[in-house]
Amino acid sequence: MSSSPLEPAAPVPPDAFGLYVHVPYCARACPYCDFDFRVDPRPDGGALLEALRREVLGRDDARLGQSPYTIYVGGGTPSVLSAEDLGALLAWISSTWSARACAEWTVECNPEHIDPARLESLQRAGVHRISLGVQSLDPVGLRQLGRAHDPDQACEAVEAAQRLGLAVSVDLIVGWPGQTTEGLRAELQRVMSLGASHVSIYALTIEPGTPWERLAERGVRRLPQVDDAADALECCAAVLGGAGFVHYEVASYARGPAYAVHNTGYWLGRDYVGVGPSAASAQHRGDGVARRANPRGADWWAGEGASVEVLDSESAAREALWLSLRLLEGVEIDGFLRRVHRDRAWLDARTARARARGNITLDGGRMRVAAGRWMHHDDIAADVL
Ligand code: SF4
Repeated sequence: MSSSPLEPAAPVPPDAFGLYVHVPYCARACPYCDFDFRVDPRPDGGALLEALRREVLGRDDARLGQSPYTIYVGGGTPSVLSAEDLGALLAWISSTWSARACAEWTVECNPEHIDPARLESLQRAGVHRISLGVQSLDPVGLRQLGRAHDPDQACEAVEAAQRLGLAVSVDLIVGWPGQTTEGLRAELQRVMSLGASHVSIYALTIEPGTPWERLAERGVRRLPQVDDAADALECCAAVLGGAGFVHYEVASYARGPAYAVHNTGYWLGRDYVGVGPSAASAQHRGDGVARRANPRGADWWAGEGASVEVLDSESAAREALWLSLRLLEGVEIDGFLRRVHRDRAWLDARTARARARGNITLDGGRMRVAAGRWMHHDDIAADVL
């Protein structure tokens, strides 16, 4: 599939794919978020497991009977499930898809849920890694972002998971109104002092129709500013890069080889199959890609059908180019063109505008986002798609 140096030493099987399982509950609603979730601090995990089983049994998809290369359990907030329900869900995943043997199994968790019982459920099932929604280590930031934990709780969660041998990826949101560069540096220093092997950094964006947007319309709350976000992202790149983290993807930093294998599969164009409400799937069919989107929320619970579209060869190639350019290593041109069944003239034409703007460079058979231009990834997307 790929000659990416991000791939592990062991060869990746040519038919490798990722499995995504969506847990659609959160204890509370963060004011900026429009993901597919229900607010329920004590969700019925047994009902969710039954519904997921029904979906898997009822779907005519050969992938669901095969062993995935990577597994990612996301949400929502999977860790809002009780330790018992979380354990039952993970045991089902483990027995259905030989999860212990996959290259990477990640579960999203929130710091306030990291307790001995849930950690035991994760460990017993054989989960390798958690993606922890720390978001900020500043009490002002956490309050604005509507999070339930405090900075110390987040740090204790990272340390407790690592003590049990779980790899930890820390999610941070930057660019919230009032965040200072000094404050952000202090947050990053504290994250690094915990020994987390992976950090994902997102600039705060307020989705339409969210509580934050309504508060901003009434003048009660400020919207994040694009310039502040750009400064914050530059600060993260300088601090984490200076400490030896490799900035390998637009939003991702890894210490040593601890890159996110599942997510890297998306960027390299690997197939994936998703189960649960709003879960997406994409599978190559000839030169094109068949995409499926599960219904959101109540429609999924009611057993409504998924929407399916087939990207033709040209659309699939453009999307593959855009996704590959999320990786800071860029695109190995000859291999990429073989993969998407296109020629050099196609690539030159597709990237002409982004190159003219100085956002993309060519260097030693690779095409990549130019140094210092990765914050312009949205512009690059608009130019190449
Ligand atoms: S940001 Fe995460 S925890 Fe907050 S509401 Fe959205 S899905 Fe739930």
